[in-house]
Amino acid sequence: MKLLLTPAVEAAIREHARAEYPHECCGALLGREEGALRVIQQIIRLANERADERERRFYVSPQQVLMAERHARETGLLLLGFYHSHPDHPAAPSEYDREHALPYYSYPIVSVVQGVPTELRSWRLREDRTGFDEESVVPVPEG
Ligand SMILES: [Zn+2]
Repeated sequence: MKLLLTPAVEAAIREHARAEYPHECCGALLGREEGALRVIQQIIRLANERADERERRFYVSPQQVLMAERHARETGLLLLGFYHSHPDHPAAPSEYDREHALPYYSYPIVSVVQGVPTELRSWRLREDRTGFDEESVVPVPEG
């Protein structure tokens, strides 16, 4: 599986990660599927509803997921995943991430080092929930 990000979408994810530093940001990914490709065309910023530990945890309520799903339906897109940031940690999922993820969705993570967004990698939870597999992130070809 591959995740395609338009330049505008990738820039928007990085900007959100930068703005929330030193806290984690999170948001929804909307787009379409073309065979094994997921083309992300739009993001929705979501609020981190954790009251504590927002440097390394995020929580998205079911209400926010429903809102994102409704918005996707209204715009003719699919809700395909959720991005978040890892302030001063690598772009790899934590145990907390594994416990809170669902199969099917893509989970891009952007590492933010000293306030600067760096590495961006994307992950999918295995069906048996034992861990994540990485999916490649590629830019959408221009034109
Ligand atoms: Zn995480």
